[in-house]
Amino acid sequence: MSEKKPEPLIRAEPQQKCPVCGHVSYSIGGIHPQCHSVMADRKRRELRAEEARANPPPVQASKKPGAFNGAARLRP
Ligand SMILES: [Zn+2]
Repeated sequence: MSEKKPEPLIRAEPQQKCPVCGHVSYSIGGIHPQCHSVMADRKRRELRAEEARANPPPVQASKKPGAFNGAARLRP
């Protein structure tokens, strides 16, 4: 039996690896949509943290003694 296998009609594209997670991605841009959103959220979160550090909200005295004050933790 000398039977040859048929040639593939569609050639496989070179596999692109996602720059965020490192796994093979078949998306057009070479990056998974979920990884792209994680990357965008990371940049946005860093920007918001810088803005909050530069302009911290005023510390408000709570009526309850010992209550958590989120603005106080931004103060150096
Ligand atoms: Zn990915």
